[in-house]
Amino acid sequence: MTDSCEVLVVGAGLAGLQCARELQAAGRDVQVWEAADDIGGRIRTEQMDGFLVDRGFQVLNPAYPAVRRWVDVGALELQPFGAGLGVRRDDGLAVLAHPLREPQLIARTLGSGIAKPGDAAALLRWAAPAFIRSWGHSFDAGDRDVTLRQALDDARLTGELRRVVGQFFAGVLLEDDGSTSNDFARLLLRTFALGVPGMPRLGMQALPRQLAASLATPVRTGTRVESVRSEGGSMLVRASGAELRAEQVVVATDPASAEPLARGNHSAGGPAMKGVLTHWFAAAEPPSRLNLLCVDARERPAGPLVNTAVVSNAAPGYAPAGRHLVQTSALLRPGRPVPGDDEVRRHAADIYGTDATGWELVARHEVPDALPAQPPPLRPARPAEVTPGVFVCGDHRSTASIQGALESGHQAAQAVLRPDFR
Ligand SMILES: Cc1cc2nc3c(=O)[nH]c(=O)nc-3n(C[C@H](O)[C@H](O)[C@H](O)COP(=O)(O)OP(=O)(O)OC[C@H]3O[C@@H](n4cnc5c(N)ncnc54)[C@H](O)[C@@H]3O)c2cc1C
Repeated sequence: MTDSCEVLVVGAGLAGLQCARELQAAGRDVQVWEAADDIGGRIRTEQMDGFLVDRGFQVLNPAYPAVRRWVDVGALELQPFGAGLGVRRDDGLAVLAHPLREPQLIARTLGSGIAKPGDAAALLRWAAPAFIRSWGHSFDAGDRDVTLRQALDDARLTGELRRVVGQFFAGVLLEDDGSTSNDFARLLLRTFALGVPGMPRLGMQALPRQLAASLATPVRTGTRVESVRSEGGSMLVRASGAELRAEQVVVATDPASAEPLARGNHSAGGPAMKGVLTHWFAAAEPPSRLNLLCVDARERPAGPLVNTAVVSNAAPGYAPAGRHLVQTSALLRPGRPVPGDDEVRRHAADIYGTDATGWELVARHEVPDALPAQPPPLRPARPAEVTPGVFVCGDHRSTASIQGALESGHQAAQAVLRPDFR
């Protein structure tokens, strides 16, 4: 039998959920169909041996404008990281921390000597526009946006501080060739300066769960949509074992699935995706007391990691009492071997200056399609309606982030509700 509703949202990641709840709040009869066995899309949390592990290390920044607007951050009980970085140098692990937010680390920060006056001035030259341009600023396609690498070169940021900035952004943007839009990198920097990222008490998936909780009709999971086509004045949607008629369809899938569903274009593959490998290790003792993300900023890093953190220092609820959880992240590069478990463990041990042979592997997540590439120029808003009655949203339509996914879901809902909306 063919079911029916006013709007079908395909995909229960952040974008689809945000879109669905706005449509529902406006009185639309909405259903959400999701291919996977649970909601959340790229944000999933698993319980393993008493540990909470997210499918790939990620954090929520409460300063994202979309998070401030649509998420009840208080209810998530965010457990913040410290505002700074642990920096592995030739002589051990140094600290570079925000002097006002982490006053207890001022002496260690100054003592490290990482921020030499010339380099600090170059960093400020590069960063200053981040505090003028906000996420609300409208970006003109083809304006002066360049790659992050180009912008750092132009600011003459060199030496150790350049390597620290490079490693930090490699872990955030999931690339280390500096090919990402500089405007996007600066927006992220602005967000890091305004808010301190953290992890919800119940894991990152608590975020999509909160969005889904307000939906009147529960998400139908395990339902992969196979085709969407216009027929007899409405949209006919076919999925595994189900069929539905809707007046409008919002395709809120991952980028690779969006084009074939929305436009029937099976040859378009979507934007290039960047991948990450996360290992989660259980340790009897924390390898460091620092509540900071740590990077290897030596001229020749001792291994493949772009960052590591003792997650349970920030989020004690991620580990059972008396145990500690360490995450390590390495980039996945197309055509290159995936870093091995021993290589990863050795590099983490080297960064912390500890022996990691006793660490137990709790989980290993290989996420090849973690983030869409975001080259310049930054175009954070694209029209949501791609063919009559079919709308597309997701981070690939906005910015490659939680902010972008939520904002894009909002844009799609507005486009459905107000046909003149652009
Ligand atoms: C490891 C990792 C680390 C990250 N770190 C951060 C971070 O620290 N900060 C940050 O801001 N962002 C981070 N991100 C990015 C952020 O998680 C994503 O931008 C965001 O979750 C994307 O949401 P989305 O709704 O656009 O897409 P998705 O989450 O991909 O949701 C799409 C949904 O559509 C479903 N679907 C696909 N095809 C079909 C079909 N045919 N029928 C039905 N359903 C379908 C999928 O199963 C999925 O649930 C990270 C991502 C990863 C993976």
